[in-house]
Amino acid sequence: MMKTDKTLQVPLNPIIPFIEGDGIGPDIWKATQLVLDTAVAKTYHHDRKITWLPVLAGEQAFQETNEWLPSATLETIREHRVAIKGPLTTPVGGGIRSLNVSIRQQLDLYACVRPTKYIPHVPSPMVSPEKINMVVFRENTEDLYAGIEWEAGSTEAHQVINFLNANLDAGLGNEAGIGIKPISAVNTKRLVTMALQYAIDHQLPDVTLMHKGNIMKFTEGAFCKWGYQAAQAFGDQVITEAEVYADYGGKAPQGRVVIKDRIADMLFQQVLLRPEEYHVIATPNLNGDYISDALAAQIGGLGMAPGANIGDECAVFEATHGTAPKYAGLDKVNPGSLILSGAMMLDHLGWSDTGDLIRTALAAVIASKNVTYDLARQLKNANELKCSQFAQKIAEYIMQT
Ligand code: NAP
Repeated sequence: MMKTDKTLQVPLNPIIPFIEGDGIGPDIWKATQLVLDTAVAKTYHHDRKITWLPVLAGEQAFQETNEWLPSATLETIREHRVAIKGPLTTPVGGGIRSLNVSIRQQLDLYACVRPTKYIPHVPSPMVSPEKINMVVFRENTEDLYAGIEWEAGSTEAHQVINFLNANLDAGLGNEAGIGIKPISAVNTKRLVTMALQYAIDHQLPDVTLMHKGNIMKFTEGAFCKWGYQAAQAFGDQVITEAEVYADYGGKAPQGRVVIKDRIADMLFQQVLLRPEEYHVIATPNLNGDYISDALAAQIGGLGMAPGANIGDECAVFEATHGTAPKYAGLDKVNPGSLILSGAMMLDHLGWSDTGDLIRTALAAVIASKNVTYDLARQLKNANELKCSQFAQKIAEYIMQT
């Protein structure tokens, strides 16, 4: 695939690299591939077809190449621009903190995009889960997750503490562990720009900057300030909440995206109490990690939550849960997260008809109570299916549509 002026040029037969993943990865990948191929063939009457290109990462890569994340894998993804992956084991020791973090950093996938939309009949702890329909844009490259930290009592921690106390009067105790929280204008603005563009493209009413700027003024507070600055580049397409109240009596003018901000702890209350008021959330890394999993729980858990890591050059779509090693090879788990991530990937290619067909088919199969063990144990009178059988049911629904 090529890119011109930020637009992806997608051929009729794109080559898409996939990382099967560890643990349950092979089971859910097989199920996902069946559903994606069936839906593409159905939508485009066999005029379009994805050629899947296997690439290595994780345990399989380590066994075959002695590397957890071979550079050839990153090169292949860079070349083809769009990829999909199953979950990967985080290696213990060996200097790699997390393969997922490495992939995001090395490919500069600066936005972690996590849509949360309720699928009818999925058991949820909410009274009205159908009111939840949000997309979180989480900054992926900096904040406390940048990995700049030193253990309490280490030489490095003492060096940093001594420097801060001597030069900046920080008043730190000598025994503290230290972590650094970098947040920059350039990374904030590109993230908020992507979130605003998404809201405009999908005709969504608002984007909320989620931050803790009341306490952390020069990192989270700055995120909020730079977020509003990024919005100015959109001219009349975007309006601030303050302007809506000052100039329009609190009712947003038609066709304009409202940008607003909320303190993080307050937003956690709001997404429970008034979820219908929030559609897109843009936030730094740590807040984003928390809110995306909390929202997934509100609609019934991580087993079905799709996700993508997107940058200007590449995008990698992924299951948001882990490798669930105790279920590896049992053909048992729910492939929903990877299937829905695949549907997001098709949207990204501009093949939204196919993405919509997959979402409709998956919802219809769940509504018929044909589900994997995780949902079967919560639903009355459910018919428990294996991972492959669940995918087969979705494929059959697609073929009959
Ligand atoms: P996990 O693999 O997500 O599994 C935790 C539990 O979640 C499972 O035991 C199962 O619950 C449920 N679950 C996960 N995926 C499911 C699915 N597809 N269908 C149904 N239920 C599902 O979390 P973990 O045990 O903390 O992590 C295991 C490994 O995965 C670690 O090496 C971790 O680093 C890695 N990890 C990778 C990623 C990634 O690659 N994106 C993300 C997170 C973790 P029940 O036991 O209740 O059935």
